[in-house]
Amino acid sequence: MSDIDRIIIAGGGPIGTLTGLRLARHGIPVTVLDRLDKPAEDHRAATLQPSTLDLFAPMGLTDEILRQGLISPMFQWRDRETHKAVAEFDYGYLKDDTAFPYVVQIEQHKTVNIAIAAARKEPLFQLIRSIDVFDVSQGSDWVEAKARHEDGSVEVFRGRWLIGADGGRSVVRKEMDVSFDGFTWPERFNIVTTTRDLEAAMGFRLRNYCAHPERWVSLMKVPGEDFEGLWRCVFPAKSDETDEEVMSDAWITARFAECLAPAGECEIVHRNMYSVHQRVAGAFYKGRFALAGDSAHINNPIGGMGMNSGFQDGLNLADKLAEIWKGADAEPLLARYDRQRRLTAIEYVQAQSIANKRTLEERDPKVRAANLDNLRRMAADKESHRDFVLRSSLIAMYRKSEMIE
Ligand SMILES: Cc1cc2nc3c(=O)[nH]c(=O)nc-3n(C[C@H](O)[C@H](O)[C@H](O)COP(=O)(O)OP(=O)(O)OC[C@H]3O[C@@H](n4cnc5c(N)ncnc54)[C@H](O)[C@@H]3O)c2cc1C
Repeated sequence: MSDIDRIIIAGGGPIGTLTGLRLARHGIPVTVLDRLDKPAEDHRAATLQPSTLDLFAPMGLTDEILRQGLISPMFQWRDRETHKAVAEFDYGYLKDDTAFPYVVQIEQHKTVNIAIAAARKEPLFQLIRSIDVFDVSQGSDWVEAKARHEDGSVEVFRGRWLIGADGGRSVVRKEMDVSFDGFTWPERFNIVTTTRDLEAAMGFRLRNYCAHPERWVSLMKVPGEDFEGLWRCVFPAKSDETDEEVMSDAWITARFAECLAPAGECEIVHRNMYSVHQRVAGAFYKGRFALAGDSAHINNPIGGMGMNSGFQDGLNLADKLAEIWKGADAEPLLARYDRQRRLTAIEYVQAQSIANKRTLEERDPKVRAANLDNLRRMAADKESHRDFVLRSSLIAMYRKSEMIE
């Protein structure tokens, strides 16, 4: 086997790492290149859905995930005007659909570290850090990634296939020259964490969505570095509020007072503001390049679906590349990957995350009341309840994707 007989992955975030692990387990040499010296520890995705746990279990990852995470079978929708729960949804309805009828709350970087620890045991897996991929190209049977080390030196990596798992601003997607259609929401989101125990103080579940026409909030608990628990609150910042205002103690304290009044004073541990987009790439592959995860689709975080759907992409793609590696025709398999994952990214993740955000922020009192009534009705009816959690857990997405020829 020559040095070119490997698959290169640009990006060693959650999707690049998992995809690399799967490829190495298929017996394929894989080189993952990441610009960071360790996984980003800022607050990003924090929920592993049942569909993801089902995919992780045969890879031997779930014991450690369960050891480090918090199990949460229920999530709540609330009316923030009354501070009362409107509807509770229970993944227990999925007991016949999944081995994991609950989500696991765990910070994204811990999931990545668990995957890296497993991958490091694979002799065919190589992760190179602090290296920035800045140019990619391909020929009839090769790919090339040019990457810059921290000292400025450039190294050229050659392989047979290249996966762009390099996030929303993907260099690989730009080189593929495909559209990234969609839109950016006018408001930014400020993620603030606090150690105040909101479960005890306000009767929250570990994941909660509190609807309000002006100042909604989404709240979830993560283990924190000391396992004492950290509450993560996502507050929308209005478009006319400056970054400085939104990041100030005064702004955050005002949001805590509105949204968490019954909990009393909340200490601010951390804050992080970012813009939120809904976009899907016009194609998930071109020749020997393929996209997975945020490089292929990005969405708002309400519902915890972006990273989870990215795992489905990465594992699907790795399995198809393994077939190709063993001699199957590439074009039909990659075309099927595109059909399976692009369509479901639009129909499930984009549609559901947009619907979730609109329900949270609805301003028209009649529509707002109707939305909340609809949630109540769904929670009360066994069949609708199960349908809703099948969709929220991305099990429905996975099944649909697998059925697409
Ligand atoms: C600020 C922020 C907050 C978020 N909050 C939430 C949330 O609350 N809930 C939720 O569900 N989702 C959230 N998300 C989305 C979630 O984090 C993503 O869906 C998930 O990270 C996708 O994983 P990925 O591996 O595709 O991309 P990423 O996690 O972006 O990983 C890409 C990796 O590629 C590396 N990379 C990028 N470009 C290059 C290059 N040129 N060369 C080498 N390496 C490169 C990066 O260093 C990174 O490690 C958030 C995202 C962001 C950016």
